[in-house]
Amino acid sequence: MVVDLEYRWLAINRTAADEFERIFGWRPEVGTNMSDLIAGRSENKAAIKGLWSRALGGEEFTTIEALGNPGRDQRHYEMKFSVLRDKDGRRIGAYQFVYDVTDRLEAEKRLAEAQEALRQSQKMEAVGQLAGGIAHDFNNLLTVIIGGLGQLERGIASISDQNLTTRLRRSCEMAQQASQRSAKLTARLLAFSRRQPLDPKPIDANRLIADLADMLARTLGEEVRLEVITAPGLWMAHADVNELENAILNLAVNARDAMPEGGRLTIETGNTFLDDDYVSTIAEPVAAGQYVLIAVTDTGVGMDAGTLARVFEPFFTTKPVGQGTGLGLSQVYGFIRQSNGHVRIYSELGQGTTVKLYLPRFAASAQPDRHAPDSTGRLGGDETILVVEDHDDLRSYSVGVLQELGYRVLEAPNGPAALDLLTRVDRVDLLFTDVVLPAGMDGRRLADEALRLRPELRVLFTTGYSRNAIVHNGRLDPGVQLLPKPFTFDALAAKVRSVLDQPKTTL
Ligand code: ADP
Ligand code: MG
Repeated sequence: MVVDLEYRWLAINRTAADEFERIFGWRPEVGTNMSDLIAGRSENKAAIKGLWSRALGGEEFTTIEALGNPGRDQRHYEMKFSVLRDKDGRRIGAYQFVYDVTDRLEAEKRLAEAQEALRQSQKMEAVGQLAGGIAHDFNNLLTVIIGGLGQLERGIASISDQNLTTRLRRSCEMAQQASQRSAKLTARLLAFSRRQPLDPKPIDANRLIADLADMLARTLGEEVRLEVITAPGLWMAHADVNELENAILNLAVNARDAMPEGGRLTIETGNTFLDDDYVSTIAEPVAAGQYVLIAVTDTGVGMDAGTLARVFEPFFTTKPVGQGTGLGLSQVYGFIRQSNGHVRIYSELGQGTTVKLYLPRFAASAQPDRHAPDSTGRLGGDETILVVEDHDDLRSYSVGVLQELGYRVLEAPNGPAALDLLTRVDRVDLLFTDVVLPAGMDGRRLADEALRLRPELRVLFTTGYSRNAIVHNGRLDPGVQLLPKPFTFDALAAKVRSVLDQPKTTL
């Protein structure tokens, strides 16, 4: 539109006139005076008057203005004002180009949000890689440490000096406890990086919570009241039982810490449906469908937006040194995501916090679990076991333990060497192999080749974590036997015996 110094329209095109009419309810025409039309007091009118008075005062500028009613028909316009001169160069008015940039701004905003979400998820992914790598190596070391301590403990018994025995035993115990605590921390790191082997089973969440209630009440202390509201007719969820218990415990501990003066912790269950609309708003990939909901609500201090944005990051804690590890919610996040579920936190400063865990509903078609219980009683044996492990200390530890239990033991540092052995010796009953191996052959491939050579062979895998070799979509392939690292003397003894005693299942 073109306007003279008296605010009269000299020219205006159709589109500009249409927009003007839409916003102000008046249709501008050549010759009419703008000041009459926009004499009222609305914000929109004031904005237009202000802009034109600058333009007619000789200023040339570009601006973006929001006009219309916020929340209803508001749109954003880019306006470019220039001075109009006659042929002698005298200022006689101003002209304006208007562009509706609402869609462009909206697209830019969405792009910025998407980039932010991507950045956040890449950060979580990178931290996960790092955490998983550390946990994997650390588990190897811990296995050696825990194993060595166990051997020391058994050796101490044969020392004749009673005083020395007592002192050594106490040191050993303390070292054992510290290693077990370290093992727990590495387990949480693995959980965060979604690289722990999970063993999902159908779970009745109502029962699981009822079974946990005692321990939860003890964890929460006297000042916090525990309230459990279970939904009747609750679907079966599909998840790893131990990790789900850990997740609920982590949430309860956080709730307790958030209620130093006491309060109420409510655990609720329910059947829910996540629809397409909802899942499309989530950055992580979550399938629409049926979920079992476990909601944990406290009446504690709550979180501000800054804290809320970072709670899932490993080692993020607002607690004093020594009190928080920053790994509780990381475990929850990694476990739920690896289980194809979804976790969401709602929090209000000073009011409280709700953490909602959505676990996929158990599809009845999934294979029922057919793990034989670990056999107790007879622990050792005289069978022949081939140990394949690239970590030298760890290999000699496992070999030592198995020999101590009476087994005949062969060893190899990688897959090709193990296969070579298998073609040369006459008797091997069990292949005990690490999943991640060097020399271009992982444990899974080694097992396949070995079974071709000796169909009667039993196989037991061990791993600090599993990439994809035996854990697919976060679950063990049927028939696969796995001993997670770090393992203790007793765990190794029991697992080896139970695999040897089980009827043969094909991999
Ligand atoms: P930690 O408990 O060791 O600090 P978490 O990963 O469990 O590590 O939690 C990280 C942070 O999230 C906590 O330090 C706290 O600031 C916040 N947080 C977690 N749960 C709650 C809660 N229920 N109420 C208030 N803040 C919480
Ligand atoms: Mg915690």
